[in-house]
Amino acid sequence: MLERRIEVGLLGATGAVGQHFVRLLADHPWFRLTWLAASERSAGRKYGELPWRLAAPLPEEIAGLPVERLRAGGGPELVFSALDAAVAGGCEAEFAARGHWVVSNARSHRMDPCVPLLIPEVNPEHLELVARQREERGWRGALVTNPNCATVGLAMALAALRRFSPRRVMVTTLQALSGAGYPGVASLDGAANVIPFIDGEEEKLETETQKILGRLEGGGVRAHGVRISAQTTRVPVLDGHTEAVSVELGEPASREELLDAFARFAGEPQALGLPSAPPRPIVVHEQENRPQPRLDVESHGGMAVHVGRVRPCPVLGWKFILLSHNMVRGAAGTALLNAELLVARGLVESAREQDLAAAGRR
Ligand code: NAP
Repeated sequence: MLERRIEVGLLGATGAVGQHFVRLLADHPWFRLTWLAASERSAGRKYGELPWRLAAPLPEEIAGLPVERLRAGGGPELVFSALDAAVAGGCEAEFAARGHWVVSNARSHRMDPCVPLLIPEVNPEHLELVARQREERGWRGALVTNPNCATVGLAMALAALRRFSPRRVMVTTLQALSGAGYPGVASLDGAANVIPFIDGEEEKLETETQKILGRLEGGGVRAHGVRISAQTTRVPVLDGHTEAVSVELGEPASREELLDAFARFAGEPQALGLPSAPPRPIVVHEQENRPQPRLDVESHGGMAVHVGRVRPCPVLGWKFILLSHNMVRGAAGTALLNAELLVARGLVESAREQDLAAAGRR
């Protein structure tokens, strides 16, 4: 679709999510990662001199790039952010003010009424908030966020069931250690153990999901009325958040109708054929011992949400298990899909200009 790859930058390039961005951007058909930034601890060194913690090899052209300080105005127009939330708030706003499109993973701006909290299959129309954002904040660029890693799977599953009007949800998560970043949870806490508390996570599941499923109204998002009660736990799994979900639906549905709704769920990324879009965003499992993180989380490039054990719930009506890759669908992968949607919709100026320039030179 594009004549040449668009240069992109990465804030927080050295962290756990940052490394997944680097991995996913290697050989990306539309994007070329040319600019990296992180904290003062890493700035001034070559990326390849810093610890690389993924099994996939560090791409050679990235290893040679210098790590820059966080300096708004530097770097390409389109930047991804995998920054620690402690610094993301002010820094991302400054980048947006200076004309960058910031596609962020951090929680800092997710619930801002002017900022889209986006899952491209679920609520691409929320991109309209960008116009309001620019008008109210006077930003030359823009800021788009993706949800918390446990929220993504739940929001996609509920979006698939939207025509049955989800009303109330109970969800208990079993979240992977990688969700805590690096070095994350101390080994003596995390090994062979369950930790029944993840700071701020329950609130994010309960509120972010309502915003994502909400309707655009009067220039803002009217939160969906579904009520969610979440309990979140950390378990000794490397990658992949499992969630046990019970749901009360406002409309009657049979098991076959629910399975069909999950299996047929798709959206704009599939219609547009975006490079990171999985052909089926929700994979339905019929074996009663699936999905499992070790067996299922890496399939479909980590971009599918896995749903299994769909069965009646004596309390709320229906229950099921879901699994999603917290570092890919729950973080870098959805951000990449967000950026692909921005480009496909012609929102990123330099992408269009580079493309037109390349077309003109032929
Ligand atoms: P992480 O491993 O701790 O990485 C944090 C990144 O932020 C590093 O690149 C770090 O640079 C940089 N940073 C920290 N303090 C900084 C400062 N004062 N100035 C500039 N840069 C600074 O965290 P993570 O797990 O990758 O998470 C990154 C973001 O994504 C967080 O906002 C997190 O909430 C969100 N998120 C994480 C997940 C997940 O499953 N892990 C999922 C969804 C969203 P240095 O290496 O130089 O310190």
